This record gives sequence, structure tokens and C-alpha cells, in this order.
Amino acid sequence: MKNWLQENTWEEAKELIAKSKGVAIIPIGSIEQHARHLPVGTDSYVAITLAEAGALETNALIVPPMWFGWSPHHMVLPGTITIRPEVLVEYLFDVIKSLSAHGIDKFVLINGHRIVNIIWMQIAAEKAQRELDVVIKIFDPAYMSKDIVDTLGFGPVGHAEEVETSHMIYRYEDLVHMDKAVDNPIKATNLYSVDPNYSHDTLCYVPSTFKTAKAHAEEFGGVTGSPTKASKDKGEIYHKHLVKNLVSIIQELQKD
Ligand SMILES: [Zn+2]
Repeated sequence: MKNWLQENTWEEAKELIAKSKGVAIIPIGSIEQHARHLPVGTDSYVAITLAEAGALETNALIVPPMWFGWSPHHMVLPGTITIRPEVLVEYLFDVIKSLSAHGIDKFVLINGHRIVNIIWMQIAAEKAQRELDVVIKIFDPAYMSKDIVDTLGFGPVGHAEEVETSHMIYRYEDLVHMDKAVDNPIKATNLYSVDPNYSHDTLCYVPSTFKTAKAHAEEFGGVTGSPTKASKDKGEIYHKHLVKNLVSIIQELQKD
């Protein structure tokens, strides 16, 4: 897809930037365990597929994905790569700074890694807005789908649960192993739920301790939630709803 910066020559990139009306999408994910049924790249794939769909309708430029995120709490299982948040802040800032020198002044950061990535993305976004005179929006699927999760019958946000499993079945079915999906229903944690759809949603999130994560991984294989409730149809409705919201955010930015 020609909206991906890396697939263009510099002359084409110049045209792409003009056509994008100054808007770039940066997909940001993680490489971390996603239970036995989803690939470690799930969070990155989720951000990538949304970026592609959003760019298709708006001509926004897509920046090569940031595949890695902050995942210290998933190091208990193989395949996980975690990058320190201070490194991620600087890396993202430099990407934005480079593109701002070429005429991109509006950025949509698509976050595939939920609350864990939002923390450092906010710090990078604020620094970039202040120092580079750019405008930055963070697009988080969990927050941007709040109004339809009840309709879809999705349970709480967990990890490798029915929300991201449905999305992955819809967009990357070949990478999903539903025969290996097991449920680990989410227990209510008083006042410390990390779920935008829940009235007690909290931003006071701290990644699990190694001890908790290890015990959890050994017992359930890394899942939190009920992936067996996932379906392709729900994934499609969820994906299209997110794309609609993403497109409206990009179009709003393109007006300036
Ligand atoms: Zn995930």
C-alpha cells in the first residue's frame, strides 16, 4: 500500500506528504506474549490494520510501525521484547521531529498496546507539541470503542481476550489459533479496573509484578479474559466502528 512511507522514493514521498494534507499516522504496538492463541505481534498488527484502513479513506501518510512497546510484565513468557519507556519517548519524538522537518505537522498515534503504552505516548506527544509546533492525537481502540462494547457483548478489557481476539480473527485469521484459546475470566478488582467501559476505570495503572505475572502465566498461559467468546462478525463490527472514528479524527485534522 503506497501510503506506507517506506514503499516510496523520496520524490514520491514528497507527493505523499502533499496529498496527506500534513497528516501522518504512526502505528505503535508491542511484541509480547498474547496467550497460546494469538501471535506476539498482536498489538502491532491491530495498530497497523487500523492505520491502513484510516489512510485508505483519507490519503494520510503511514509511518513505519513502532513494533516494540513497554512490556515488562510479559517478560515471564518467551518472545516478549520490552523497551524502556524513556527510550520509546525519545525514539517517537525523533520520528515526529524528522517528519515535521518535511512538512508533516499533524500526527495520529494509533496505540495497539492499551494503557501500558499510553503513559509514555502522552509524554512524547506533549514534548513534540511544545517543541515542534505540531498537533498530536492519540487514538486508543479501547477508548474509541466504548460506545459499542456493550452492544457486541464484549466482557472487560483484559489480555488476549475476546476483544482483540475478535479483531485478529477478522483481520489476520491465519495468525489465530482458536483451538488453543482458553478462558480466564476477569475478576472484578475494586477501584482498580483498567477498562474504559467500566465506571471504576483507573489511570493509576502499574504493570504487574514479576511474581504475579509468572503465577498467572503458569496457570493460564498468559490470557486474561474470555477469548472463546470471540467471533469474526464481532471483530468486523468493532474494526469498522474504529475506522469510522479514526477517519473522522484525521479529516478534522486535515481541515487545518
Ligand atoms: Zn494485546
